[in-house]
Amino acid sequence: MTKEEIFAIVEEEDVEFIRLQFTDIFGTLKNIAITASQLEDAMENRILFDGSSVKGFAPIEDSDLYLHPDLSTFCIFPWRPQQGKVARFICNIHRTDGSVFEADPRAVLLDAYDKARRLGLNIFIEAECEFFLLNTDDKGEVSLNVREKASYFDIGPLDMSENIRRDIVLTLEEMGIKIKSSHHEIAKAQHEIDFTDQDALKCADAIQTFRMAVKTLAKRHGLSASFMPKLFENENGSGMHFKISAFDDNGKNIFEDNAKLSDRAKSTIAGILHHSRELSLINNPLVNSYKRLKPNFDAPVYVSWSSNSNRSALLRIPTERNNQIKLELRSPDSATNPYLCIAMLIYSILDGLENSMELEDAINENMYSGKNYNIKKLPDTLSEAIDEFENSNFVKEKLGTQIFNEYVEAKKIEWNEFNNAITDWEIKKYLERF
Ligand code: GLU
Ligand code: MG
Ligand code: MG
Repeated sequence: MTKEEIFAIVEEEDVEFIRLQFTDIFGTLKNIAITASQLEDAMENRILFDGSSVKGFAPIEDSDLYLHPDLSTFCIFPWRPQQGKVARFICNIHRTDGSVFEADPRAVLLDAYDKARRLGLNIFIEAECEFFLLNTDDKGEVSLNVREKASYFDIGPLDMSENIRRDIVLTLEEMGIKIKSSHHEIAKAQHEIDFTDQDALKCADAIQTFRMAVKTLAKRHGLSASFMPKLFENENGSGMHFKISAFDDNGKNIFEDNAKLSDRAKSTIAGILHHSRELSLINNPLVNSYKRLKPNFDAPVYVSWSSNSNRSALLRIPTERNNQIKLELRSPDSATNPYLCIAMLIYSILDGLENSMELEDAINENMYSGKNYNIKKLPDTLSEAIDEFENSNFVKEKLGTQIFNEYVEAKKIEWNEFNNAITDWEIKKYLERF
């Protein structure tokens, strides 16, 4: 979209406010709102904000940062009033000297994406987003009392949120995000919406837009949406699967060789598995994330791959559609920072390909049986994930020192807080017995 086209839309559609959005290193979408009268300034990259107030961003003595709107991300929020509409841009962040701000997660992804492009690789991702829709009580507080009894692929009236899912899908389509399908998920009150293939940057932007839309529309329907990775101990958690495809500059699918998994696909998988433990902290960023990565809930436990549709693997090859071999990565959860997660996924793929990494044999059986496989597991706790991350030069180099250091520090504090907390479990177990 050109500046002129955007001016014309803002005028014609009576847009009054424009949100300039960006994402912090923990994956939270942030914004500042400007009025339409500031649009020219915004599109000339002249809007400053105080980076020192954003956790993990700039120090207090060097806090001014510029927002550079990505014009292709302009869209009007369909849920806002018809008069005095609200639009948004997703922005890149720059320093006052014009250089790219290195702790901007979108910049990390742009770098990874450019590197892949320079190597003649076009990576596309189909994201599958799972989340919960919960009731709120009279006071508007979220309630964990779920009345719904629906499970996988159920329909209404068992699925009590068919209409809101429909509303979310139509709204996202209106915002330019193409949806492949949506359904009720396995757990009660759990849902999934899948996007169509898009390039890595568009996919990360779409995930952020999606989270905002889901939260907003849930609220409108009197519900509350949650992307917390594991809500109920005895139910599935919420994953964020990525179906990855990759083409060379001639449009050839590099994962396929005479309808079989190509050598490049094998090296790609090897690269992803090789880096999966040290990247857990990005893919599974919360104390709670590690409660999802347990047996029997369709989430991975082992660092393994499967050549069929075995859902207990970290990576599987889904049944082909339209002769396209894709790789489904199943470890990231719904709380991941999509920019960092996808950037590091790209670097893992490139590392696997550049070093022609060798792939271990596939494990096609259900890995939850209790049998001991002699292979690595994903970290069991946030603490183990922090250790793996902190000891990785690969992660440090690719993420950049600032994000690396800020991220580790924040996650150590989070782990410490958790360790000091007296949990409901302890109270139930010990209060009266001792
Ligand atoms: N909810 C599962 C997870 O935590 C995935 C279920 C599925 O295969 O769609 O990853
Ligand atoms: Mg699913
Ligand atoms: Mg899936």
